[in-house]
Amino acid sequence: MGSQQIDIVMLPFMAHGHLIPFLSLATQIHHRTGFNIAIANTPLNIQYLRSTFHQHQNPPWIHLFELPFNSAGHGLPPNSENTENLPLDQIGKLVISSVSLKTPFHNLLLDIIKKQGKPPLCIISDVFFGWVVEVANIMNTVNITFATGGAYGTLALFSFWLNLPHRKTDSEEFNLPGFPERCKFHVSQLHEFMRKADGNDSWSRFLKSQFSSSLQSFGWLTNTAEELEPLGLDSLRKYTQFPVWPIGPLLPKQLLNKSPLSSSSSTTQHAGKSPGISAEKCVEWLDMHDLASVLYISFGSQNTVSRSQMMELAIGLEKSWTPFIWVIRPPLGFDLKAEFRSEWLPEGFEARMKENNQGLLVKNWAPQLEILSHKSTGAFLSHCGWNSTMESLSQGVKIIGWPMAAEQAFNSKMLVDEMGVSVELTRGVQSSISSEKVKEVIGIVMEKEGKGGDMKRKVEEIAHQIREAVKDEGNEKGSSIKAKDDFISAIKTRKQEVFS
Ligand code: UDP
Repeated sequence: MGSQQIDIVMLPFMAHGHLIPFLSLATQIHHRTGFNIAIANTPLNIQYLRSTFHQHQNPPWIHLFELPFNSAGHGLPPNSENTENLPLDQIGKLVISSVSLKTPFHNLLLDIIKKQGKPPLCIISDVFFGWVVEVANIMNTVNITFATGGAYGTLALFSFWLNLPHRKTDSEEFNLPGFPERCKFHVSQLHEFMRKADGNDSWSRFLKSQFSSSLQSFGWLTNTAEELEPLGLDSLRKYTQFPVWPIGPLLPKQLLNKSPLSSSSSTTQHAGKSPGISAEKCVEWLDMHDLASVLYISFGSQNTVSRSQMMELAIGLEKSWTPFIWVIRPPLGFDLKAEFRSEWLPEGFEARMKENNQGLLVKNWAPQLEILSHKSTGAFLSHCGWNSTMESLSQGVKIIGWPMAAEQAFNSKMLVDEMGVSVELTRGVQSSISSEKVKEVIGIVMEKEGKGGDMKRKVEEIAHQIREAVKDEGNEKGSSIKAKDDFISAIKTRKQEVFS
């Protein structure tokens, strides 16, 4: 820490999809203010953050602090400090055990305050860490919650766990407090553990307590833009009754500038993930195809589908005659790191796709940014994770939704109902999908006229809104840049009020 004072302390959740937006937020705040920023996390995640810097050297304004975390003590495999090192069914344990960071985090703040003689301006913490509000109060500073997802999806998740509305009706449809009456949600949008939640299970108790504490924060930052989510932001502000600053989407610069992407740009985001193909090879393949003709298929950093779903998806793709790039992983029930077996796909599928140049199968991990920003990519069959969603929309790429977990089904609903840029194919890994349905949905979305054409116009408009929102050129400041400045002046004003 040296003699530098620390202005802001950040505590992201232990998943790459959270660590990266926090780091990006830290960088942007530093560039606007010159603030020194600390990021605290478990040792493996701090190592990961460090690895994202040139020669693993973090700049002097950023301070990385390790908080001890004993994963084995929480019944997790040793060194399991990140969702990406864990089987899906263990992620819940990591979320719940994160409360054990409270004491080390408290001690870290005491240490910082002792050295610099005053508390940081604020603490920015993840939505799962409602307990930070109490620590911030004790330390005479404030907690800001940073939702790395969108406003609509995050509010839906909060409202669900705080109200458990599916328990209050016999119908399969329900309303979520905070959303207008017209927004009808459906039990099939709930992951199995959500459907089972009754208020007494460990999930309900943990999330209710963390989320209600988060609602005592000084305010919220969200990884979205004012123009993108009028309904989500309006509802979130009414529900929380505190300031909400939409400062996103925090996207890699290359996506916004549309400049050629270096092959390392997407891989550095997920250190430890080795791409199944080089960016150059992908681009070469895409170059051979027509404008907006290719469907990109990927389910994020850790999902896969069931064996029967994989089979039907493959048959439907082949029948559709649509060119595609598909990130394939072993199906559900198999080790995701295992070798991919051809028996999981229709006989001869891979060879036929190669021969007629219809499909490129990429094992495990693809250079997603290069694919989405290529002019041949027309649509994205996605699990609707927030990063993938924003990356796709920013490039004017339509979506076919296949939400799987977390708040993805709510994101998918917003993309269909509010934005009109997506058609949902199915939900979850238990659903039965037919190759006919796959073919039909692909046909609708890839079409240049009709519904596909309408979706394209809407997604182009959204891509434009994203570029405008994050614009920062001279006096031209987009809404997300202004929101960042408003946030900074709000915490500075609060400091003057407290210390004058
Ligand atoms: N990603 C990638 N290649 C892949 C799969 C994912 O580069 O083959 C990146 C993608 O660009 C995005 C992130 O991984 O930035 C996934 O984040 P998202 O929020 O969409 O989903 P999650 O993995 O958190 O479920």
